[in-house]
Amino acid sequence: MASRVNPELVKSLEEFGVTSASTCFNCGNCTAVCNLSTESVPFPRKVIRYLQLGDKDKLMQSPEPWLCYYCGDCSETCPRDADPGEVMMGLRRYLTSLYDWTGLSRLFYTSKAFEIIAILIVGGLVGLGFYFFHGPMLTDRVALNVFAPNRVIEILDLIMAAILSFFLLTNAYRMFGAVMTKPLPGEDPEAARRRRHKLLKGFPAKFYIAEAKEFILNFVTQKKFGLCQKKEKMIQWVVHLLIMTGYSTIFLLVVVGIRWFQRDEIYPIWHPIRLLGYYGTFAILYGVTYAMIRRLKKDETAYKHSHSTDWIFLILLWLTTFTGILIHVTRLLEMPLSTYYIYVIHLMIAVPMLVLEVPFAKWAHQLYRPMIIYLMKVRERASSAK
Ligand code: SF4
Ligand code: SF4
Repeated sequence: MASRVNPELVKSLEEFGVTSASTCFNCGNCTAVCNLSTESVPFPRKVIRYLQLGDKDKLMQSPEPWLCYYCGDCSETCPRDADPGEVMMGLRRYLTSLYDWTGLSRLFYTSKAFEIIAILIVGGLVGLGFYFFHGPMLTDRVALNVFAPNRVIEILDLIMAAILSFFLLTNAYRMFGAVMTKPLPGEDPEAARRRRHKLLKGFPAKFYIAEAKEFILNFVTQKKFGLCQKKEKMIQWVVHLLIMTGYSTIFLLVVVGIRWFQRDEIYPIWHPIRLLGYYGTFAILYGVTYAMIRRLKKDETAYKHSHSTDWIFLILLWLTTFTGILIHVTRLLEMPLSTYYIYVIHLMIAVPMLVLEVPFAKWAHQLYRPMIIYLMKVRERASSAK
């Protein structure tokens, strides 16, 4: 079966932020300068060609967009101003929408109004939930766990985490299926397609187990980002790492550790939970503020173009962090009513950010990227075992 080709695809990807791919004349300069491109998986030229041809099936199977960390080197040297770095960024958005079986991701990326309305609806539901079901608002002291008992929040958190995981993992499974049934070098395409119905897509479990460390290592360190950067661009890696580790720390504290994180007594300054909270808050606030300023200044290739979803993600994350800090301050200043109201506002921002961004938009790359690097290692192992 031949791949489906659609010359209109390149046009339809403009909504995902891919506006310059048509000007590429396939010289290969970008692939030559990219530090992350390899002989076995060269990019970005090849996927830009798939895009120009409108070969959706080949794009869906392509790991390359996730191997790019958007340093911008290729865009700075492209003789046609095709902006290959930005094309790869737009392709990541497009692929996220292809993996997502619900169709919501596509709507978020192609309709700003839809994303804003979805955020308002989810935020409004959180507000209504508190309006009808909040606990007593004691005013003689700050009693957050009377107003919103952490045992109840914990159950709601776990339900939310289970739903998010379901959507994120089912989407990730579609990505896994597409990437792992791409023919190996020298493999008959028909044989590769038949692997689609096999367990683990026809690769032995021992290959997946042997390479599992790659997933963990790349998830935690994003070390390939460091390889991509010129020395003066290392700050981008640091900022990315701060946002990712800060976000993961706070996510774990509020979803898994809420009964220790949301306490009415104030922990001493050296307490590990308080220190973790400070680290996560500082890391996100610094990283997100930095990214917002650079996007406003547009003084670096990677920050020149911003899709509306980039801004919405950064703004939600910044506001979630800022209102989190305000809750901490009002608790320290013993201001009960302010604490309760800000707590509700905080959750009206944080919940839509998690519910919508984790499985369907920007955040999903935190899983897809290390997962692709890991799957590429499994494929390499399978190729050399042939
Ligand atoms: S994106 Fe630019 S550098 Fe890359 S192949 Fe096309 S024209 Fe050449
Ligand atoms: S932006 Fe950087 S990592 Fe991405 S394709 Fe271009 S040179 Fe490679």
